[in-house]
Amino acid sequence: MAKAAFDTPRIPDFPEIPVVVEGAMGHSRPFAAAPEHQEALGFPGRLVEDWHDRAIARMGELLGRSRGLRVFLDSCVKCGACTDKCHYFLGTGDPKNMPVARQDLLRKVYRRHFTLAGKLFPKLVGAADLTEEVLEDWYRYFHQCSQCRRCSVFCPYGIDTAEVSMAGREILASVGLGQKYSNEIIGKVHKIGNNLGLPQPALADTLEGLGEDVEEETGVPVRFPLDEEGAEVLLVTPSADFFAEPHVDGLIGYAKVFHQAGIRWTLSTRASEAANFGLFIGSYENMRKVALRVREAALELGVKRLVFGECGHAWRVAYSFLDTLAGPFDFLDPRYPVPQHVVEVTHDLIRRGALTLDRSANDERRVTFHDSCNVARASRMGDVPGGQFTLPRDVLRAVCNHFFDMAPDTIGEGTFCCGGGGGLLTDDLVELRVKGALPRMQAFREVVERHRVTHIAAICAICKSQFAKVLPYYGFEMDQILSVHQLVGDAIVLGRND
Ligand code: SF4
Ligand code: SF4
Repeated sequence: MAKAAFDTPRIPDFPEIPVVVEGAMGHSRPFAAAPEHQEALGFPGRLVEDWHDRAIARMGELLGRSRGLRVFLDSCVKCGACTDKCHYFLGTGDPKNMPVARQDLLRKVYRRHFTLAGKLFPKLVGAADLTEEVLEDWYRYFHQCSQCRRCSVFCPYGIDTAEVSMAGREILASVGLGQKYSNEIIGKVHKIGNNLGLPQPALADTLEGLGEDVEEETGVPVRFPLDEEGAEVLLVTPSADFFAEPHVDGLIGYAKVFHQAGIRWTLSTRASEAANFGLFIGSYENMRKVALRVREAALELGVKRLVFGECGHAWRVAYSFLDTLAGPFDFLDPRYPVPQHVVEVTHDLIRRGALTLDRSANDERRVTFHDSCNVARASRMGDVPGGQFTLPRDVLRAVCNHFFDMAPDTIGEGTFCCGGGGGLLTDDLVELRVKGALPRMQAFREVVERHRVTHIAAICAICKSQFAKVLPYYGFEMDQILSVHQLVGDAIVLGRND
């Protein structure tokens, strides 16, 4: 591995609040979107001349659309409860990565233009003009927020910094300053159907090859169907599941579950991507366009159920917004929730005894579970509160004998972000990603030392990619991250149900 141009933080023995270093991450700036990436999403190609007025006008539109945004900008009392809750602050020490400071980047301009006190006495109320310097701070620091919502859990008013950074990014893109990584990917989804730009023939080939590999290994013809009309289930899964490790082992696990349960399922070329990066850039229009593919695919294939694979923010969009964005889904079978998470499907099958599992198949693994932010704090699973925490753990305990949770304040509702969510999973932000992973690495090392844990399991494509990248920076191996359904797939006894 090439030597990094930054120092990986030392993992402390206990969680530590860092020394504050002004401007520690002021140099962190993701590549800006090229004109073609911007224009494909309906944004100006480059920074427009009247960017100031257009930015203020766009802020006004967003405030008119979202009452929540205005409440978040109005209600902070500067209590400080959120200041040490962000993994990017904990990993970098940059005070602008304190959630309240990140919000203030937008709040000060909001106050200047949308409050009477800010118009009359700006200095008294912390109001400030939108200058080029402020615009640049927005670009840098709204791209140092993974929109994980951890800070909102600790805020007595529930102020959600994720919503503030989404609004900031939306305004930036609307004046011509979008982020390359997210916008290029959204463009590929609009054009081809998935983040990777994988066309139908390549996808069909890949799936056929996977089927052959599994049959060779197990002797059982487990299918990976694509565009099969009349299937019961449409599986919408992150495109990383089609080939990258450890994601693809998760896809093999889903296929084995469907095979063994006798559920006829299919993937779709049109909706060959669960991810919806429209969320990350705060663009309702792009989020809706991406979500509508799922509806079109479900109608086109005549399926009865909609199941989402292991992708954190995709599940957030699906669980929280899909019906608003692309509903109603009244043409699906009303006996099943719309949408359903693949963990819910597997959990239900296990509960009903419909799968034969051999836990000992995973005996060489000692496993912990990383709660992904968008699942933990922005959605739910099953029909009981907290199901998003209990269902994956129930599944893991059913398929492996050695499961150990990380420290209670680092999991569940208070889980730490992997450091790569929210559209930051790009190599031009690798320093931020490595430093932002520090709190999670600290919690992981603790269970490694205490329980000899060997692997982290996750149900988010971004978390899996991020961990594969950052684990080696902290002295671990990149293959210590696993898909939950890889463990399921390895434990399933194919061909037997007893
Ligand atoms: S949403 Fe997450 S990344 Fe953003 S400021 Fe809050 S804790 Fe930090
Ligand atoms: S915890 Fe909430 S109210 Fe307190 S400083 Fe942070 S955002 Fe403001």
